[in-house]
Amino acid sequence: MNECIFCKIIKGEIPSKKIYEDDKVLAFMDINPVVDGHVLIIPKEHYEDFTVLSEEIVTHIYNIANKLTKELMTKLDSKGLTLTVNYGDAQEVKHFHLHLLPNYHIHKKEKSVDEIYEILK
Ligand code: 5GP
Ligand code: ZN
Repeated sequence: MNECIFCKIIKGEIPSKKIYEDDKVLAFMDINPVVDGHVLIIPKEHYEDFTVLSEEIVTHIYNIANKLTKELMTKLDSKGLTLTVNYGDAQEVKHFHLHLLPNYHIHKKEKSVDEIYEILK
């Protein structure tokens, strides 16, 4: 049985605030944002971490990151955005995910996840 929390989100067994979805990836709001607009992009196929991703999915994830970066920066009036991948002990959820962190350099966190989701969805 697959206990992976992000696989459960993909299957709809755990709710999430989705902002983008296609046949290969899902992007949704982080449940515990470190900044306003903290979004995660995950492959729908379970890959434990960045070292085992296929080249095809890396390219696709970064193409979607490019598209979402522009959307997030426009909608949230963000002047910058940080992309982060954690690995090893730094990675809490063992299903690869790319963090999109608008205005990370100024740690802007003023709104709730629901307020931001209303802007982004
Ligand atoms: P990591 O340290 O693995 O790179 O980060 C995992 C991220 O997943 C954290 O920012 C955490 O808040 C987020 N997260 C963990 N569980 C859930 C969940 O059930 N739903 C959502 N939306 N985010 C989650
Ligand atoms: Zn998984």
